[in-house]
Amino acid sequence: MTESPAATQLCPRCGKQRAAALFIGRSGKRLKSCRPCLDTAQSISRRHRDRIGAAGVRAANLRDKYGITVEEYDRLRSAQDYRCAICRRHEDELPASSVGRPRLDGRPTATAFKLVVDHCHRSGSVRGLLCVGCNAAIGHFRDDPAVLLAAAAYLSR
Ligand SMILES: [Zn+2]
Ligand SMILES: [Zn+2]
Repeated sequence: MTESPAATQLCPRCGKQRAAALFIGRSGKRLKSCRPCLDTAQSISRRHRDRIGAAGVRAANLRDKYGITVEEYDRLRSAQDYRCAICRRHEDELPASSVGRPRLDGRPTATAFKLVVDHCHRSGSVRGLLCVGCNAAIGHFRDDPAVLLAAAAYLSR
C-alpha cells in the first residue's frame, strides 16, 4: 500500500482537520499545530508580555528557565561581583545575548541575562552564574572536572 501525502492534517491544538498547507511555517518548516493556532498563541503571549512589562518578563524568564526568583538571581550576581564565576569577566564586558525576536513595535525586548544560571545536573541545585561561553564550555566537557583538568594540562604542554 502506497501512502499519498495527506491533503489534510489533524491539529492537536484545535482538534480540527485542516489543509496540510496550514502546517507549513513561514520559513518552510513543518509545524505540529496549524498556523492559525500558533498565531493566536503568539498574539496572546505578546499581549501577556505587554501587560506584565519588562520586569515581569524578566521574572517570568528567570522562573521558567532557571527556577529562581529575581531576588535570588540578583543576590548571586552581587555575591559574584557581577562577574562570571569562571573567567571573571564582568557583565558589562560580555556581549549582549538577545532574548527572542525583536519586537514589531520597536520596543526593546526584556533585558537579556548576560550571566546565566548554572545548575548541577545531578542535584538540580544552582552552582553559580556563568557567562554564556563558560557555561557552554563546561557542558562540552560534560561537567567533568577530570576532563577539564586534562584539557588544561593539554593546553599547557
Ligand atoms: Zn489548530
Ligand atoms: Zn565566563
